[in-house]
Amino acid sequence: MYDAIIVGGGPAGSIAAERSARGGLSVLMLEKATYPRHKTCGGGVSQKALDVIGGIDKELIEREAFGARIFLPDYRNFAGMLDDRVAVMTRRENLDHWLARRAEDAGAVVQDGEAVKDVVFNKDCVEVVTSENRYRSRMVIGSDGVNSTVARRSGIRTHWGDDVGLCLEAEVKLGETAVEECVGDRLTEFYFIRDWGYGWVFPKRDHISIGIGKLIARAHNLKGSFSRFVRDVSVQKNIDIEGRISGINNYRIPAGGYPRRLHGDRVLLTGDAAGFVDPFLGEGIYYAVKSGEIAADVAAGAVESGDFSERFLQEYVSRCEKEFNYDLKSALKFANFAYGHRDLFLKALWRDKRLFMEYLRTVRGDMTYTDFNRWCACRSPVTLAKLIISR
Ligand SMILES: Cc1cc2nc3c(=O)[nH]c(=O)nc-3n(C[C@H](O)[C@H](O)[C@H](O)COP(=O)(O)OP(=O)(O)OC[C@H]3O[C@@H](n4cnc5c(N)ncnc54)[C@H](O)[C@@H]3O)c2cc1C
Repeated sequence: MYDAIIVGGGPAGSIAAERSARGGLSVLMLEKATYPRHKTCGGGVSQKALDVIGGIDKELIEREAFGARIFLPDYRNFAGMLDDRVAVMTRRENLDHWLARRAEDAGAVVQDGEAVKDVVFNKDCVEVVTSENRYRSRMVIGSDGVNSTVARRSGIRTHWGDDVGLCLEAEVKLGETAVEECVGDRLTEFYFIRDWGYGWVFPKRDHISIGIGKLIARAHNLKGSFSRFVRDVSVQKNIDIEGRISGINNYRIPAGGYPRRLHGDRVLLTGDAAGFVDPFLGEGIYYAVKSGEIAADVAAGAVESGDFSERFLQEYVSRCEKEFNYDLKSALKFANFAYGHRDLFLKALWRDKRLFMEYLRTVRGDMTYTDFNRWCACRSPVTLAKLIISR
């Protein structure tokens, strides 16, 4: 019998597995795909996520981003940059494979190519059922992403409501020089061009990730929006992106900051399975690795005390709340304001350079959304004056 079985080998699962194994637990991580596996994602890893991971191999870093260029609905644009790195651009198939190998090196048993079909909760153990095997464990950590089997089988969540978004994304090979011409040095691009949500172009070594995302409730004809977006960006940049797309990926993404159940007897949910994603930016890797780390610590405490009850595991909820989930609620307030008053927000970002810089610092991890919201409230007279002067 294992101390913990971790279902899903994305960033949340691998960090939970690595940390649990380092803490002396016997751990099995089950991943349904075979590494290296594709995950639909922009692959941007913020500095605060890197700090939790503890740095990554140089080869995994395709580009570095020190700032962003923001596009308004009419394609006028402006850029802001910090002296410090805000994020690195990676390919998820490489990053996730590397993280899983690190978990294995730490002593976790990593079994890829084995999908979990069912999880059965007994009084004294959990049985995790795959098509090949039936494993037993003291507890289970659900790191199996937005379509989590563990969340469903544990009864924690049977379906998402309106609090989940849908993204379309393509990885387009342009060649190194064209990527530099397309996005510019050390920048990422965000397009607030239509309806709700935003589009992005993230540069990788020789290709770009281009995509759009919207809340599902507003995601009518997303494919049409994506085609128009890619066509417009191709025209704006005079680069044929549209003609070089070989496949379009779509994937759901939960929005964080909503009250949700995160645990039960013998079970914890982490990362996307728990709904831990920045509701403004769609950043999820930081929250995945952070919650994976906390889950591993709480699992170690449960193994030590022999107590796997919902009551004992409440510690996980409290620590997530303290370390980032309260802040996701502040992020949700910010997202509701920014998307609800999009024109005003974009103008403020454009005209008040300091506002833009402070936001970049928030993404980098130098300040929290809670602090950023407070800072914005104090700054609002200055921002307003700048808006009036620039009219
Ligand atoms: C289009 C798009 C772009 C994004 N861009 C960014 C970005 O640039 N930066 C950022 O920080 N975040 C981004 N995100 C969010 C980010 O991808 C997720 O938040 C992050 O991957 C969550 O990590 P995770 O480990 O919780 O889940 P996942 O990465 O989804 O990993 C879950 C793993 O579980 C496995 N699994 C699922 N079911 C089972 C099963 N039954 N049995 C076994 N294994 C199973 C899956 O194969 C997968 O490997 C983006 C999301 C989308 C959709």
